[in-house]
Amino acid sequence: MRTIPIAAAFSLALLATSALAAEKPDMTTAAKVLFSRPKLPSDQPPHPVGFYAKGCLAGGVQLPINGPDWQVMRLSRNRNWGMPQLVAFLEKFANDAHDKDGWPGLLVGDMSQPRGGPMPTGHASHQIGLDVDIWYDPMPSHWLSRDEREKTSASSLTKAGTHFDMLPDRWPKGLEKVLKRAASYPEVERIFVNPGVKKRLCETAGADRDWLRQLRPYYLHNDHFHVRLRCPAGATECTHQAPTAAGDGCGKDLDYWLSGQPWKPPPKPTKPPEKPVKPVKPPPPLTLAGLPKPCIDVLYAPDGGGKPAYAYDPLAGPGPLKAGAGGGADPIGKVIGRDGTGASVGN
Ligand SMILES: [Zn+2]
Repeated sequence: MRTIPIAAAFSLALLATSALAAEKPDMTTAAKVLFSRPKLPSDQPPHPVGFYAKGCLAGGVQLPINGPDWQVMRLSRNRNWGMPQLVAFLEKFANDAHDKDGWPGLLVGDMSQPRGGPMPTGHASHQIGLDVDIWYDPMPSHWLSRDEREKTSASSLTKAGTHFDMLPDRWPKGLEKVLKRAASYPEVERIFVNPGVKKRLCETAGADRDWLRQLRPYYLHNDHFHVRLRCPAGATECTHQAPTAAGDGCGKDLDYWLSGQPWKPPPKPTKPPEKPVKPVKPPPPLTLAGLPKPCIDVLYAPDGGGKPAYAYDPLAGPGPLKAGAGGGADPIGKVIGRDGTGASVGN
């Protein structure tokens, strides 16, 4: 009979103990609840797991709440996390929009939660750290307080009660340049806009129309546009989206949206049902079992620091507003707070 050497037996016992000590994954609670809990990213190399609308984010990094040409809104949501490529993209895009297109700066809405995943409110996608919402409103010429960032509403470009009827005088000056700029980066997979916005761009673009392909009409998106980046090179657990169709998307595709069809309820069956219809049970909420397996590790990994390599040093503070007039002091201070230091002094 073979005997197990003492050292091996000891390490087996140790393994069993540590397996017991590890937290057992919660496979019954809704994934949107579980992923809304961590305040920090996982201590893992950054990588997106799964698809934009079904996945999670390992090793997320945080976009500083103040940059030379951007301000992050709705800080209480803690959704300014993403892949390092998304943070780098936003820095570059904000800078280009300001310096080359004369745009005052970006107001950045939701990116992802610290560990991505489904959210309790607001989005189907934004789960793998490669999506970002940006307001159509240009950045104002002062640093918004924490309170203003919660309470200021994004302006809708469409008439209340309509899906895509544009307000005649709401289009921010230069917005078309900013949208064209966003579409110009090779890492951008697509950009979601309201169908009315796409219509206007189709009408005003002129001869240079290739970039219009990236702008996809979609529900809502009347007060912000949504930029989605491609799976970065080497991101083997990231699921690619099928590329956008050839052409500028101003023909049939847009006509479909402008027909109002997407908002119409499905047609009622003409025959009456033979049996009495049972009330339809809502589908059970998505749990960890419905997400890609590595998301369990992402959720239960220890906290990471989430420090990206910034071109812009957030700890140096936002400095004077490039936008100029009326800048004044930054009311939130040099709050970046990833490492727990430099806590907020703002309201
Ligand atoms: Zn979005």
